[in-house]
Amino acid sequence: MESSALQEPEAEQRRLAELSRYAITLDESDPKLDLITELAIKSVGAEIGGISIVYQSQIWLPSRVGVEVRHVPRAGSFCTWVVGAASEADFFEVEDAASDPRFRDNPLVTHAPHFHHYAAVPLLGARGYLLGTLWVMTSRVRRLDREQVMMLQGMARLVVDTLELRYCDEVTGMSNRQVFLHHLQLGLEQATLPHVVVGFINLAGFRRINDVFGRVQGDHVLREMGQRLAGWAGPENLAGHLGGDQFAFALFGERDEHVAQLEQLKAVLDAPFVLGRGGAHVLHARVGIEHHDTPYRGSAVALLDAADTASSSITGPLQRTTVREYGAELLTRSHMVFELQGALDGDAHHGVLVAHYQPQVDYTSGTLIGLEALVRWQHPLRGMVFPNSFIPLAESTDKIYQLDMLVLAQVCRDMRGWLDAGLPVVPVSLNFSRRSLLHPQVITDLTALLERYAIPGHLLEFEVTESQLLETVELVAPRVAEFRALGAHIAVDDFGTGYSNLDAISSFPFDRLKVDRQFVSGVADSEKVAGLFQLIKGISELFKAELLCEGLEEAADLQWLAGQGAGRVQGWYFSAARTPDAIVRILSALRDRAADAPPLTVAQLRALLQS
Ligand code: C2E
Ligand code: MG
Ligand code: MG
Repeated sequence: MESSALQEPEAEQRRLAELSRYAITLDESDPKLDLITELAIKSVGAEIGGISIVYQSQIWLPSRVGVEVRHVPRAGSFCTWVVGAASEADFFEVEDAASDPRFRDNPLVTHAPHFHHYAAVPLLGARGYLLGTLWVMTSRVRRLDREQVMMLQGMARLVVDTLELRYCDEVTGMSNRQVFLHHLQLGLEQATLPHVVVGFINLAGFRRINDVFGRVQGDHVLREMGQRLAGWAGPENLAGHLGGDQFAFALFGERDEHVAQLEQLKAVLDAPFVLGRGGAHVLHARVGIEHHDTPYRGSAVALLDAADTASSSITGPLQRTTVREYGAELLTRSHMVFELQGALDGDAHHGVLVAHYQPQVDYTSGTLIGLEALVRWQHPLRGMVFPNSFIPLAESTDKIYQLDMLVLAQVCRDMRGWLDAGLPVVPVSLNFSRRSLLHPQVITDLTALLERYAIPGHLLEFEVTESQLLETVELVAPRVAEFRALGAHIAVDDFGTGYSNLDAISSFPFDRLKVDRQFVSGVADSEKVAGLFQLIKGISELFKAELLCEGLEEAADLQWLAGQGAGRVQGWYFSAARTPDAIVRILSALRDRAADAPPLTVAQLRALLQS
């Protein structure tokens, strides 16, 4: 089987020790695979054996018995021939390798103890892709009988199941993230060609396919994309499925060749595919790439992360697949993603994410009617970071659900504290991204939090921006119904900035329209703004939803709104977002007011909220 020495050379050990720095631990032996290999050897009376996975120009042995090397060059190995013949045969045998010109120079044959017999079963994945081989060798010349062949084939099936579970992506059968990185790391170090391009592919709009056409069709699309990608990359390069709508590739070669290859990739990804009776569909991708000269002893993970960052820096709607190279300007962004993840995971070195609360008032009755939770990132070096500079990052890197749930948990905890202190608690609004609203776990997680902190559902409101809420209403409407069944309210945030039509708005019930700041601020001075405001107000009346005006800063606008009967507002005129401690002081002051005290005037309300 092997074309290099039986004992692991020192250099190989050093290299592996270095590799372990990158925490890719695939080289640790897998007890289950080792057990199967041992059984295979014993059951056919062989002497050594192993499981070989062919990738690029290498063969990797995730399990080996009687052999110590873990990677061997593909050229001149036994395994390569099995793989080449696999489409025809389900068993491969060489009775006497010494007399076979293909293997005459193989060190296992030429060196003591001089293995002569080789038998192998190709490992075919459940979906027909070839993973590698299960092989055994014996020093004497021999031929396995029918029963022994069947034994070996039975063992091979067990190996396939184990390999698929551990190393392959379930849907596409391609390398999963871990294996891709493992192969990439080795490829970087052993490359004979001078250059590598590592790519990260994000299929824009794939989630919609999954949502609208269902999981089965979604998987079909991923498989097809995987096959296209593997075909495009070719056997000398790497392609893998990182999960969900994300793929990765690595091209080894000359720098100049890559330009043309990446152009082809765009065409490959943009080609339409057919979905059942749904006709032809097209998906475009955000492809981030990172180049490096090879051989390279740095980390494969870092290259893939750079490509990932470049991919998520491509924003806005796509007309076709777009490729962007990682550059220095993206460094800060990737660092920020890293730090944000740290903060989300509770690592205080990267700061903490805390909700502050902005009061919502009805100035006509002088009352506090609610609080909006607005997240802030208190960073040890950057100070207070506002959400507009990290929410989009969290959304594009799939961290938004974790973030929204972290805020929700804090809100529930704070509210429980206020309730226990006997404070006059008002409903709290939370901002939820569309992804969080549609997240499969959200109702379970929300219910668990409400129970844990004993918070009645009606004390929570979920705000989703107009543009995010009214896209694919068919998915959003049933989820909104689930939130409302828990008693929670739904608000359409930033209303007026999207382009929704009345049809979309009428497709599910909501409780509140939050008029975007641009239709509030300066409304007293602009006929155009005033006209738009009235239109929005008309819509809220049509749908019997409460109107709340955001971003009120000026007394003149307050006067104008009062003239329109728009009494519910939120804005800096009354108060910016306050810390949880400040909210406790405000609620305490409200509690301590005499029951028969006259309603607060606008000036008194401002003073109280800003205290
Ligand atoms: P939003 O939900 O529309 O929140 C209102 C934003 O306007 C807040 O900005 C608030 O501080 C600001 N604002 C309030 N009153 C005034 C005013 O009188 N004048 C002006 N110029 N601005 C005012 P902030 O806190 O920076 O939040 C920005 C956006 O980030 C929010 O917009 C919301 O969409 C998003 N966001 C905040 N927290 C979360 C969160 O926990 N999860 C998610 N998914 N998004 C969040
Ligand atoms: Mg909001
Ligand atoms: Mg808003």
